[in-house]
Amino acid sequence: MDAVRELSATLGYAENALNRMAELRDKPDALAALQALNEARAIVLAGDIPILKRHGDAFDALFSFDEAHALGHARECVFLGHDGARPIFGLALEVPEPETHQGRDDLLVIDARSIAVQALLPPKWLGPLGEAKSLLYWHRRHRFCAVCGQATEMKSGGWKRVCPSCEAEHFPRTDPVAIMMAVRQDKCVLGRQSRFPPGMYSCLAGFIEPGETIENAVRRELFEEAGIKTGAVRYLASQPWPFPGSMMIGCIAEALDDELVIDGEELEDARWFSRDEVVLMLKGEHPDGLLAPQPIAIANAIMRAWAFDGENV
Ligand SMILES: [Zn+2]
Repeated sequence: MDAVRELSATLGYAENALNRMAELRDKPDALAALQALNEARAIVLAGDIPILKRHGDAFDALFSFDEAHALGHARECVFLGHDGARPIFGLALEVPEPETHQGRDDLLVIDARSIAVQALLPPKWLGPLGEAKSLLYWHRRHRFCAVCGQATEMKSGGWKRVCPSCEAEHFPRTDPVAIMMAVRQDKCVLGRQSRFPPGMYSCLAGFIEPGETIENAVRRELFEEAGIKTGAVRYLASQPWPFPGSMMIGCIAEALDDELVIDGEELEDARWFSRDEVVLMLKGEHPDGLLAPQPIAIANAIMRAWAFDGENV
């Protein structure tokens, strides 16, 4: 299956060529046979932190099961999919403290954000890494039945948990987040939160709530955070964001006037930026040192699409 080069496919954690082979998930014998193959590989996490193999200056996310088991007992092993050459699993170590595995010359214990920002792995392995991280995080945080409180059991190669008491099924969460840039004529609104690095401005964002369309969530967030009255909304791209399990849905929205009312809680500041200013931020050449988010983030892609490629509502 050839990857379509849509905007989403160019984003960090988005490229994922694994065939998930969902038809095998409820065949435990078939999954066990795949795991027993010599060529089977596992992406290993200690808590939320991936462990990479180090070969000089190169890094590799794939451990043989012998190598993975040498790191410690597995608490959970989930089936991520097949890369065409071998089955790929995600493995959570029983001892979740990443410090346990630090200090070895043949390993690098490092957070998933740094792996993407520093390009430590080929882009095609960031997707499976995020898949493993989000799925194993969900298992760690959903051990008990939300209906009756009984401890649940992992099933379907890690793609659900089942309660032995009330038989409720629980499925991995993906939390949708709308992230958007309001535009009007030749300018756009960007904002900053106090936790951002100094000088960085980005798109506004917020979780989509029950009962909302993506478009309604965009309009609500823009009004709540910045007092922007919004007309049309257009979808641009999406990005799986494994911190811990979000789906970023990137949009461009039409601001109906120039008014801004900053809420002061979620946002420290927001203002209008000209297209020329956004271009300078993306190039790292803004005269006041203002910065765009890192290229792995969908906010950067939305800004580029509008500033460089003429994308609009
Ligand atoms: Zn239950």
